[in-house]
Amino acid sequence: MSKTLHFNFTPVQSFVAQARRTRDLWAGSYLLAWLSGQAMNAILKDNGKILMPYIDDDSLMAAIQDPSHASDLAKSLGTLPNRFTAQIPENKDPKEYAKVIQDHWIKVANAVRDKIDPGKSLIDDDFWNRQINNHWEFAWVTGEKSSLDSRKNLRLPTPTEESGEKCTVCGERQELSESKKSEFVPNRKSSKDWWAKFQVSDLDLRENERLCAVCLTKRLFPLVAEKAIGWEVEQYYPSTAYLSAIDWLEKVLIKAKDSDAIQKAANELTETAKKLHLHNSEYNTHINGLSHHLKDSGINKPFIDLDGDAFYLSSIDADQLQKRGSNKTLSTGEKNDLRKALIKLQKAAGSKATPFYALLLMDGDGMGKLIGDCDTEERGKISKALADFTSRVPGIVDQHNGKLVYAGGDDVFALLPVSSAIKCAADCRSAYQQAYQQAFEHLPKGITEAATISAAVQFAHQNIALSVVVKDAHRLLDDIAKDRTGRDALTCRVWKPGGIVLTWAQPWTDELKTDFAQLLDEIIAAFRPDPTSDRFSSKFFYKLRDLFEQIESDDTITDEAIQDLLAAEYLANRELKKNDKETQRKEAKERVERLLLLCRQQTRHSENTPVTYTKGKYNADAALLVRFLVQKEV
Ligand SMILES: [Zn+2]
Repeated sequence: MSKTLHFNFTPVQSFVAQARRTRDLWAGSYLLAWLSGQAMNAILKDNGKILMPYIDDDSLMAAIQDPSHASDLAKSLGTLPNRFTAQIPENKDPKEYAKVIQDHWIKVANAVRDKIDPGKSLIDDDFWNRQINNHWEFAWVTGEKSSLDSRKNLRLPTPTEESGEKCTVCGERQELSESKKSEFVPNRKSSKDWWAKFQVSDLDLRENERLCAVCLTKRLFPLVAEKAIGWEVEQYYPSTAYLSAIDWLEKVLIKAKDSDAIQKAANELTETAKKLHLHNSEYNTHINGLSHHLKDSGINKPFIDLDGDAFYLSSIDADQLQKRGSNKTLSTGEKNDLRKALIKLQKAAGSKATPFYALLLMDGDGMGKLIGDCDTEERGKISKALADFTSRVPGIVDQHNGKLVYAGGDDVFALLPVSSAIKCAADCRSAYQQAYQQAFEHLPKGITEAATISAAVQFAHQNIALSVVVKDAHRLLDDIAKDRTGRDALTCRVWKPGGIVLTWAQPWTDELKTDFAQLLDEIIAAFRPDPTSDRFSSKFFYKLRDLFEQIESDDTITDEAIQDLLAAEYLANRELKKNDKETQRKEAKERVERLLLLCRQQTRHSENTPVTYTKGKYNADAALLVRFLVQKEV
């Protein structure tokens, strides 16, 4: 006899989001997937069966079963969700699988502790164990249908209130230098001295960082991966500065093919960085477009290995760059040398790198209900569709010059340069739909309409705390794309150092099958500054906001009148060529019509069959998004 088990463990979102750098995001996601895989593997060993996710072709699952043959994909990407459904023997207590996760987590934490405190002299055992052992909470339901009555929770003893100085990453738990103190009196000097005892590179722990046991485990896990999980993992993950620079680097490489001046300036920048002993921290970073265009560019490979901060004058000025080995910052003279080399390259290329990068979060809409409404056979097909989707995502993200943080089940989490993030989201959505269509030869009506996926794209300035951007991405996805826009939707937000500048959302398509991601792309192309066409006018976009406010207070105004008003405004900012006035007027009207379509907020109603859409207010943020994507600045 067997029984069905629905199992999950938490915290997930906060565990991943508590991150100071991109590698923390990756490590958190990867550890979660690996821990979940350990529980699934224990079920398989008990002659159980994993019903959801579909794990037969999963590379991480294969690596867990045979660590000596872990594939490159398994070493670089977490693909297993923290929530799964399984068939387990009737006599098995799910508590055993919670214990498997707990034991493996402790093993990873111990490997980290052995690395930094081999003599166990620096950190108090009870302190370390309190933070590590109480971290996870497990919940499960057994039986055919999910019901709250049979729900069991396993929460290990609640930790005592964490007092004293907090960890600089999570801000929740006490930092480790306090572990042997009898009373908690803040003393920065002694805590600084304590952290200086750790012999880890500055790339792994910055001078001002003081972490708790959980955040330190996440931070240093890549250094001890072989001991902790059985295989080595990549120790470098591209920084937000590097991700922001990708679009520009690609442009530089392309232009360099026909420009000796660019080749020379780029190679000189690399030479200067080398003389100053800067880290070539992106040495192992593979970005598809950069590797491709490096060939025949006349620029040497070390150029694209440079620390991302070397491509920004503001970062050079702000002492973001440190020397290899000594971890010293640059002197004023050295900073000047680097500045000069960078300015020379910017001049030769005729452009500079945007300080913004993109973070993409996607997940399937209403998965709980979708699965709940299905029979066992349909559920099996959904699992297969999701596995198929997950297997396609790495290729899509790579093609768009991005880096995946996580792709498993119906979830995608990726970091990308600004120019390709929306296109990447749209391609992932197509792959999601195709995966369902292939799994179901004849897609039952209810499943076709429920098998949709929403996306949140954050365009964030690299100086904004990563944890803020990640936490908000979840809100953007759940509150704006799903609740407010009605799911099967795309939403974008721009963050500059002062805060949120704009938020835009639309269903992926509307009643007339307008493809909003494509429409956005076309409008950007039409407005893109180009020496041969009209200069892009930001004044026009700000006027738009005023006009929309006027429309709000006057409901007698017709759509056609709005179009005429805006077309006139658009033309007012331009010089009309004498012979061509009529064509230009027509073109202006067409552009404005499309822009207005993008601005008019639509809401999707999936509770209706067929799905319906309603039109709401005009939102000038759509136009500001176009402006941002054209200029990559705000
Ligand atoms: Zn922490």
